[in-house]
Amino acid sequence: MPDGRDPVPSSPTENALSGPTEKCGVVGVSLTERDAARPLYYSLYALQHRGQESAGIVTHDGFQQHDHVEMGLVGDAFDEDDIESLRGSAGIGHVRYPTAGSVDKSCAQPFTVSFRSGALGLSHNGNLVNADDVRDELAAQGHAFTSDGDTEVIAHDLARNLLEADLVRAVKRTMGRIHGSYSLAIMHDDTVLGVRDPEGNRPLCIGELEDGYVVASESAAIDTLDGELVRDVRPGELVVLRPDGEGFDSYQLFEREHTAHCFFEHVYFARPDSVIDGSLVYEVRRELGRKLWDESGIDTDVVMPVPDSGRAFASGYAEAAQEEDSKVEFAEGLMKNRYVGRTFIMPTQDERERAVRLKLNPIKSTVEGKTVTLVDDSIVRGTTSTQLLALLRDCGAAEVHMRIGAPPIAAPCYMGINMATRDELIAADKSTEEICDEIEADSLAYLSTEAVADALGEERDDLCMGCVTGEYPYDIEGEEMDSAHAANPKPEL
Ligand code: AMP
Repeated sequence: MPDGRDPVPSSPTENALSGPTEKCGVVGVSLTERDAARPLYYSLYALQHRGQESAGIVTHDGFQQHDHVEMGLVGDAFDEDDIESLRGSAGIGHVRYPTAGSVDKSCAQPFTVSFRSGALGLSHNGNLVNADDVRDELAAQGHAFTSDGDTEVIAHDLARNLLEADLVRAVKRTMGRIHGSYSLAIMHDDTVLGVRDPEGNRPLCIGELEDGYVVASESAAIDTLDGELVRDVRPGELVVLRPDGEGFDSYQLFEREHTAHCFFEHVYFARPDSVIDGSLVYEVRRELGRKLWDESGIDTDVVMPVPDSGRAFASGYAEAAQEEDSKVEFAEGLMKNRYVGRTFIMPTQDERERAVRLKLNPIKSTVEGKTVTLVDDSIVRGTTSTQLLALLRDCGAAEVHMRIGAPPIAAPCYMGINMATRDELIAADKSTEEICDEIEADSLAYLSTEAVADALGEERDDLCMGCVTGEYPYDIEGEEMDSAHAANPKPEL
């Protein structure tokens, strides 16, 4: 990060990656009857959970580009005049994930660059693991960079390739040089494209609207526009939205034996009402909850979710328990203050602890004197669970058992989810029993990796579980590559 305060790369190994790791939301629309700005603005609202640091829209009116990119939430970044000024029926948008303390507009997107053969706009979700190599090579050829982000590297590489090749070949050349996770909404003059990396790490889908087409990180954005989800963009695929609104062209530019879909999108990150890689996230979370009961169910008086992240898991868990005549009852025992942001953006441990207390308050009658199972999607640093267990005990709970709808998070994410560094992750060097002692639970159980693959309806080798296993589907300096993806190392430049 420009200010050096990105919470992700901090150990020497993790510094091997350049720029911020970004989990973001992208969208692109191509329409025939109206300007693109308003539908883009609504889509960004639907994708707000994917990034709250900055929001931006770039449109093209057939002659020139128009852009508006601001720090902050979508609702604060645009006013009516801004939307009016964004002329043209083609456009792309972006919301960027907050990184601690960062207020740097140079990383806000969409990224734009004008060059001899046109104007480019780029929205990126994911993280390249060889951005430094590509940047060094381009810089040696005279490209000047204004940010340390990897998106600018993709934009410059593509602009250079467009000087020598048509659009599809240029995209293919760039995809052959960059390595890592990327879902992109691109605009070349007034043509809108969607691109997903060959492993399909981050989501991207295509939707049909009344007067055109849309590509978006999540299908919830398509629903917001009253559109129909057509399908996911396939890993390694380029889709080009036809400017006449008559559909899209598909080019399968790369094919791999195994995908590397991020399981954590389903566990935590995506909206429950989105369909990702063919599965409705809400149903996946309920299924994960059901499997949690099958693997480690315990008969307590109540099962309660950590709101909102644990809710679908706890309801699946309770349903499976009741089918087996367990006495356990689903209850809401913690109330959430909606006006407190995600605790992760708090840069210090002290602030993170304070934020948990600000965010959640127990309902005494559902807790006092009861044996309780508390269900959440994940434990990262252990802050939330430690605080909540203490809170529930203070409130008179007789026993508190913790059940987690994912395996232990033991290694950092380099692919665009802002987790924590290895030394901050509670499971990096502790066993489940040690964690149970540390968070002071009566018992603790995580879900197995097999159960996760099963609930997602995917082969284990088609999932990225780098943050669980410490073995990654991409070739990252200082880290192990997993065997399913070892055939596709970082390209030699
Ligand atoms: P922690 O308190 O550090 O153990 O984090 C676990 C809590 O944070 C859980 O309630 C999760 O729902 C939530 N969480 C997990 N991953 C993330 C993330 N990447 N960003 C923000 N919150 C997260």
